[in-house]
Amino acid sequence: MSAVAARYDVVVIGAGHNGLVCAAQLARAGRRTLVLEARARVGGAAVTREFAPGFRASTGAHLLYGLPASLDAELGLAGHGLRSAAERLPTTSLLPDGTIADVDPGPAAIEGAARAAFDRRIARFAGYLAELHARVPPRLGTPDWSDRFELLRAGFGLRRLGRRDMRELLRIGAMNAYDLLDETFESPPLKGALAFDAVLGTNFGPRSPGSVFTWLHRLAGLGAGGGRGLWCPQGGVGALSAALESAARAAGATVRTGAPVARILVEADRATGVELDDGERIEAAVVVSGADPKTTLLRLLGARHLDAGFVRTVRHLRNTGLAAKLHLALDRAPQIVGVDPARLRGRLVIAPSMDYVERAFDHSKYGEWSTAPALEITLPSLADPSLAPGGAHVLSATVQYAPYTVAGGWELERPRLMEALLDALERHAPGLRRSVVAAQLLVPPDIEREYGIAGGHWHHLELALDQFHLLRPTPGARGHATPVPGLYLCGAGCHPGGGVTGLAGRNAAQFILRQSE
Ligand SMILES: Cc1cc2nc3c(=O)[nH]c(=O)nc-3n(C[C@H](O)[C@H](O)[C@H](O)COP(=O)(O)OP(=O)(O)OC[C@H]3O[C@@H](n4cnc5c(N)ncnc54)[C@H](O)[C@@H]3O)c2cc1C
Repeated sequence: MSAVAARYDVVVIGAGHNGLVCAAQLARAGRRTLVLEARARVGGAAVTREFAPGFRASTGAHLLYGLPASLDAELGLAGHGLRSAAERLPTTSLLPDGTIADVDPGPAAIEGAARAAFDRRIARFAGYLAELHARVPPRLGTPDWSDRFELLRAGFGLRRLGRRDMRELLRIGAMNAYDLLDETFESPPLKGALAFDAVLGTNFGPRSPGSVFTWLHRLAGLGAGGGRGLWCPQGGVGALSAALESAARAAGATVRTGAPVARILVEADRATGVELDDGERIEAAVVVSGADPKTTLLRLLGARHLDAGFVRTVRHLRNTGLAAKLHLALDRAPQIVGVDPARLRGRLVIAPSMDYVERAFDHSKYGEWSTAPALEITLPSLADPSLAPGGAHVLSATVQYAPYTVAGGWELERPRLMEALLDALERHAPGLRRSVVAAQLLVPPDIEREYGIAGGHWHHLELALDQFHLLRPTPGARGHATPVPGLYLCGAGCHPGGGVTGLAGRNAAQFILRQSE
């Protein structure tokens, strides 16, 4: 038996951004907190990495849209070095005929009047969702006053929308984005780009029921962001994680990297600490895991500590990802047909119509990728030259859809998908291929390996109505608690899901502090 090295009030497993937020909040509340990160650096999927000599990119999340301004202010992230490289990034849709469409809202918006009315309506619904995101979901049917209060609060928020909006939210909430957009707009490029946003990071196509909900989820994040819109920190998304680590340390937390947790220790049916891969044991009154729920509950805790029904439920949680990441090191700035320099610094999407996105999705159902992929492209080094050598540039793209398992296997298919992606880009950026000096493509099994997310899913667990709010991560979940006293979850697999928002981490800290009041 190995010696016990130390005792803490709280051990946080994983220094993903949610783990860091949770640790910072607990340390600020006076808890002696230790964060243990398996990998050599903090951030999880919110990280900046050198993917080719001299070229760095945000190799997981590459654009921020959901970090609440309130969290930024609470932790004083500017004081910990967080700077914005670019904010309110415009979105430009690249069309097959070489033209472009400006799909942003505003005075020059496509179908301006319809767009303005729609955006106002949808913003009210997203605002309601943002309120739910910021709070720990209640449990149903308990005598606990805090559960009843939360339930009432959620109901009151809905009631506040008014009868007409409440009815409309119920109507569209479970609808698909395709039908909603089709009944609202005419323009295929506008509908394509909006439908792409609705399904980004999910296992949905625009016609999948629930894709309006996943869109509202994203818009809720944007609405709470304090007007920054889509933005990127100086130094890439990893700079946010570095600022969160600094905030956690300043609050008194200890952060250890290269410290993989092998298992969660349980004594007398209660979590009592963790054991690292090298056998070191660390005791803690509370263990909080920012790793995904399947990793935490099935691998680190182990089925023997859980009842068979719960284990079955956890095994069946949907967690395989469909989003891939492409990173290109370019020896010069690409020229993209029809895109002026200001728009080149923003977000470019290849999603020219809803049918295009749906067809790309169709392939994924059968373990295939599409030769006509939907892409979200950024050129972060244009606004932040620190990411590439002088004159050279980085292209970072999220690719939909790359199934976790492909017929033929990824060893064979990865280079073929890479070729298809370069072809797709070359159509809009003639000559781009010749400027590529290095390329990296991360498909979901790579994301699983690189970031330790079982299944490689953007949200750890699929974001869908049946895995949301009081049903997340499992039906009957007790907020961030697990069936084992003393063990909590704080990552994207909990309410309100993924994206770099810090909300799961903040909510978990509040929940844990309430438990010990
Ligand atoms: C391809 C892709 C693109 C994305 N793009 C965007 C985007 O542009 N914008 C956006 O907002 N979101 C994006 N996301 C989603 C976002 O990156 C995630 O939802 C978010 O980073 C999850 O954060 P987390 O802290 O909950 O978990 P993670 O970031 O997964 O952190 C969990 C941490 O736990 C650690 N860990 C796991 N097991 C152990 C162990 N046994 N011991 C110790 N440590 C362990 C891991 O190493 C990791 O550091 C994207 C996701 C993917 C996959």
